[in-house]
Amino acid sequence: MNRTLYGNLIFELSKKGRKGYSLPQDYDRTHTTAELPEALRRSEAARLPECDELTVVRHYTNLSHNNFGVNDGFYPLGSCTMKYNPVINEEIAAMKAFAGLHPLQPAETCQGALEVYYNLQQSLAELAGLSEFTLNPCAGAHGELTGLMVIRAYHEAKAHPSRTKVLIPDSAHGTNPASAAVCGLEVVEVKSLPDGTVDVAHLRQLLDEMGDQVAAMMMTNPNTLGIFEPRVLGITKMVHEAGGLMYYDGANLNALLGECRPGDMGFDVMHINLHKTFSTPHGGGGPGSGPVGVRKGLEQFLPYPRVKMEAPPTATEGGTAPLFTVDFGKVSPSGDDGRAGTSLGSVGSFFGNYGVMLKAYAYILSLGREHVKQVGPLATLNANYIKERLRDDYLLPIQGLCKHEVVFDGLVDKSTGVTTMDVAKRLLDYGYHAPTIYFPLLFHESLMIEPTENESKETIDAFINVMHTIAAEAKSDPELVKTAPHNTPIGRVDDVLAAKHPITTYWKSLEN
Ligand SMILES: *Cc1c(COP(=O)(O)O)cnc(C)c1O
Repeated sequence: MNRTLYGNLIFELSKKGRKGYSLPQDYDRTHTTAELPEALRRSEAARLPECDELTVVRHYTNLSHNNFGVNDGFYPLGSCTMKYNPVINEEIAAMKAFAGLHPLQPAETCQGALEVYYNLQQSLAELAGLSEFTLNPCAGAHGELTGLMVIRAYHEAKAHPSRTKVLIPDSAHGTNPASAAVCGLEVVEVKSLPDGTVDVAHLRQLLDEMGDQVAAMMMTNPNTLGIFEPRVLGITKMVHEAGGLMYYDGANLNALLGECRPGDMGFDVMHINLHKTFSTPHGGGGPGSGPVGVRKGLEQFLPYPRVKMEAPPTATEGGTAPLFTVDFGKVSPSGDDGRAGTSLGSVGSFFGNYGVMLKAYAYILSLGREHVKQVGPLATLNANYIKERLRDDYLLPIQGLCKHEVVFDGLVDKSTGVTTMDVAKRLLDYGYHAPTIYFPLLFHESLMIEPTENESKETIDAFINVMHTIAAEAKSDPELVKTAPHNTPIGRVDDVLAAKHPITTYWKSLEN
């Protein structure tokens, strides 16, 4: 891209009086600013860029070429499951019959859309081994909060409001303690053993000390190191015996999909990240979807709306098709938050991100019962292949089989001073998205690689070769790696400056 010609910002291309639009001739000009109260009107014109249409098109086309997505190349971002987003999902979500729906239209007029919604709820319940799902939450972290609210409501209903502690392993994703805190619960950290699994002796000690105050334990399995927790059945039993519930962070469900179910491991509440496990696009802030499932006996705490299937009318009643209904909950006497009975009320707007759900459901149907079981084993095979082929150059802190992702602790050879950050930046020069770095926090130089089940052996081999090349460069020319990237539109940025003094608008940048 020619930056001097096209400029960095649309504001820099602005020339007073240039226009890139024309209003339709029948444009209704009756709505003028005169209808706005004086106090709300601008006193001077907004400082908007003034550009012709071709300049605008070139500017944004060039910007889009700087983007990197799964469709551009290998994207091994650990814990994020950046799998391929099949095109058929997009086609279905774009169908006018779905995309043109209004969330308030009567249920009789959108039975097909409600059927999809209902079927997705049922499919997720079957895959998770749980009783019922809400599709309302809009992301994994939102699901965590919703799930913890369900757990809190459960303890309140049992007259145990003093159960306010949430046990969370120190390997957990940062959203786990954050969600617990937002829910008004208190986080208690459970230590991990050197192999990354839960220190059960520490858990025992915590339960002995404060068991009657424990609301829940949150777990990710396989955990954020890609390790399956071998003592999971014992752990869920211990927490249940102490009166707490088990929450399953489903971000790593891809490793187990269709093979092994959180409900069967003893979990009571979980979320699923549709934008990870179920192939819907993510990155750049969404949209996502974080459905929450519960085991039998907790359904009444789930939020509204709920989509239900009525028994199909009998032949004598003259119909055959089932009827799908929406329950938005009753408006409570004290407010209009939709809270009714024991339900949480509503946690999001209307039905949640319906387009994301359509894509996830299309993915489930494309795989079917038979192929869904191949996802976890293939993702696991790919991760272990990478692990075995990179372990001579990259430090492997945990031996043995991993699940769908592998964590290295930087380069084996620490004498060069080349860090995980440097390796990640150098990968950009070779046209790869960087793996997740410096997470999990258990190691100093975490480099977390998740290939997913989609990648061919050729793609993975090419990536492995580049990782070996970078390890060799770190020895022969460490400066080259430490100053990377060299081939990207922008070189090494100052992360600290960017975080401490962010310049978020063009006008602000002129002041600085
Ligand atoms: C991604 C992730 C989350 C949070 O999910 P979002 O959809 O990004 O909010 C939680 N836990 C783990 C382990 C994750 O990888």
